[in-house]
Amino acid sequence: MNMKNSKVAIMECPNYDIENMMGKINAGIDLIGGWGQWIKAGMNVLLKVNLIGPLTPDSAAVTHCEFVRAITRILKHLGCNVWIGDSAGGAIGGKAQTAKSLTISGLEKIAQEEGAIIKNFDREGVVEIKNSSGKIMHLAKPMFDADFVINLPKMKTHLAGIYTGAVKNLFGCVPGQKKAEYHKASPTTSAFGEIICDINIALNVGLNIMDGIMAMDKMGPISGGKYSAQKIVMSTDALALDTIAAKMMGLQIQDLPIFQASIHREIGEWRIEKIEICGDYDVPPRLINFKLPRMISREGKGSGILAKLIDIMKTRPRIDLKICKKCNLCVDSCPVQIIDRQTKKIDYEKCIECMCCHELCIYKAVKLVNVNRVIRFLSRLKRQ
Ligand code: SF4
Ligand code: SF4
Repeated sequence: MNMKNSKVAIMECPNYDIENMMGKINAGIDLIGGWGQWIKAGMNVLLKVNLIGPLTPDSAAVTHCEFVRAITRILKHLGCNVWIGDSAGGAIGGKAQTAKSLTISGLEKIAQEEGAIIKNFDREGVVEIKNSSGKIMHLAKPMFDADFVINLPKMKTHLAGIYTGAVKNLFGCVPGQKKAEYHKASPTTSAFGEIICDINIALNVGLNIMDGIMAMDKMGPISGGKYSAQKIVMSTDALALDTIAAKMMGLQIQDLPIFQASIHREIGEWRIEKIEICGDYDVPPRLINFKLPRMISREGKGSGILAKLIDIMKTRPRIDLKICKKCNLCVDSCPVQIIDRQTKKIDYEKCIECMCCHELCIYKAVKLVNVNRVIRFLSRLKRQ
């Protein structure tokens, strides 16, 4: 008999209509266990959103504030106190972007309107944990103070990791500039995956509900395209949820270096045959014409022709001064501090190719250019 270990509910949801979302979320939750299994009146429930930067709800880069409103309302009906929290990526002049991001994303407003409490992870204190290599890490205190945590990732591509979802979303529990420090300490995607895995093990997240209504394809997680996926994906198992969401994009999770540690250390289920799919689908629906990032960075895989192809297609960041607004977010957030403040030139000898500069520039001024001159020349010709 094929025993299924983890359940993932996939619900079809065409837009951010509040009543529709609440109905779909409640129906999906019923299928994977029911609210009553985890939630009791009077609990403090933390919604860990994806607040990558100061971006509007319709950017497809942040968890949509109406999606957060729907879950807040459900929890309020159940008698809970709702907290909404995250720490945004990057800093300008040493100043973190979280407060600004909470306003621009619309989350502050919906918290006021729905009677929820905002938890800016940069200001709420930290809890010290030891990671798998015995090093001390600091994680946002509300993640430990809450009675129950619900992770609300956004369905997106990621040019360094290819896909980003529930497991990676917990990196936002690292407050402020500490994120850059941890990035610096893990210069490959799989080393970074170890840190993500450590964070997932340290935090007790009870449930994951992914906003895949307006997803992001192409060069995510900020500068990608909007893709109307019209899905809400739910599971108590973050890795199983990511396995299914990645499959919907045409990816096998075991091929993605950022998930290697999480698979190896068994933080959840990644074998499709062990995952029970329920809701509006019984197999992961393929997202038609969903475009994956044109990403080939520091950690290719395979050998022979594939390795050569990866080498040829390798890209690196370059700042387009015609678009750059000189806000210095990339300069201050670069983990190895190698972007010149005046000229915006990057010291490629020292670049660890984390792509944080590309990820954080909301003006899309950080372009990814091919390292290979022939490919660069051909792409220029194609554009003309
Ligand atoms: S590239 Fe983007 S993030 Fe960097 S200084 Fe220019 S506008 Fe700011
Ligand atoms: S220049 Fe960009 S890609 Fe290179 S290390 Fe700095 S932030 Fe990362």
